[in-house]
Amino acid sequence: MHGPGCPVCVTPLEMIDRAHAIARLPNVIFCSFGDMLRVPGSDGDLFTIKSEGGDVRVVYSPLDCLKIARANPAKQVVFFAIGFETTAPANAMLAWRAREEKLNNVSLLVSHVLVPPALEAILASPENRVQGFLGPGHVCAVMGYGEYLPISANYKVPIVITGFEPLDILEGVLMTVKQLEEGRAVVENQYSRILDQTGNLPAQKLIGKVFEVSDRKWRGIGTIPHSGYRLRQEFAAHDAEKLFDVADILTLEPEICISGEILRGIKKPHDCPAFATLCDPQHPLGATMVSAEGACAAYYAYGRHLKPQGAGKLHQIAPDLAPASAGAALVSGGRA
Ligand code: SF4
Repeated sequence: MHGPGCPVCVTPLEMIDRAHAIARLPNVIFCSFGDMLRVPGSDGDLFTIKSEGGDVRVVYSPLDCLKIARANPAKQVVFFAIGFETTAPANAMLAWRAREEKLNNVSLLVSHVLVPPALEAILASPENRVQGFLGPGHVCAVMGYGEYLPISANYKVPIVITGFEPLDILEGVLMTVKQLEEGRAVVENQYSRILDQTGNLPAQKLIGKVFEVSDRKWRGIGTIPHSGYRLRQEFAAHDAEKLFDVADILTLEPEICISGEILRGIKKPHDCPAFATLCDPQHPLGATMVSAEGACAAYYAYGRHLKPQGAGKLHQIAPDLAPASAGAALVSGGRA
């Protein structure tokens, strides 16, 4: 089962609305990775804003914003900094370089989320039914996997840090199931060709200089303590939430959406009455249909014609079609 979501999925609707409010301003160049452009807020998406004359630009690296800011000194260049720990080093580098270069027209709208607190929140819930995790290889490539050792020990769940190729997923599932069958619960590293327990120390050092851990709201789940990053006070001049006074924009999710339960592994997309009727990838109502990597979007793409009880047969019917993230038998983090 998917979870606890991909960064696009778990970015709260109100943060999307805040981004859109900033992107609509005439003196703003709003920069984002491409996958956020189609994410709908309460009133359209970034493509809509661009078509209406907003200066919305896709960048391939956060550092592209520096070049744009130097070329447009009269405009405020805002980067939508979302993602797990994976994207945090490059986003931190943008804030760091902007401050070093005294580029006061660069700011970041930060909505970073952290995986370990989300896993703990899932395991601590009385409704929890997750027995093991495929841990996020991309996140651990930056952070190492030391943070997962106490979680596995405290909650007695196997956590296998796993890569993203199909064989990685299969081996990660095998290692997890072996632990369960043998009655063990430890952290194992399937992705050893890429990472170790320590992770990328220079990247972690930079993250620590620019960001501090904060409570963070996860779309569909709610606020999880200590589950995000925000800019440190030293970088307040580059904090878009402070510069643009958008913090009072609050948006409620549609009541019918059960994506919070899906992200926690309690229910499946087929259990939602809106699945493939009121809600589809063109008209997503909730977090898990927003991104192509979301559980509802994956079920829509590969299994919407199956009856509810057929959800478990997905891999027998279309083993070569299911994306790597959909093939995860247990819970794994999203891409970025
Ligand atoms: S199908 Fe749509 S409304 Fe239902 S849980 Fe998924 S995202 Fe939410």
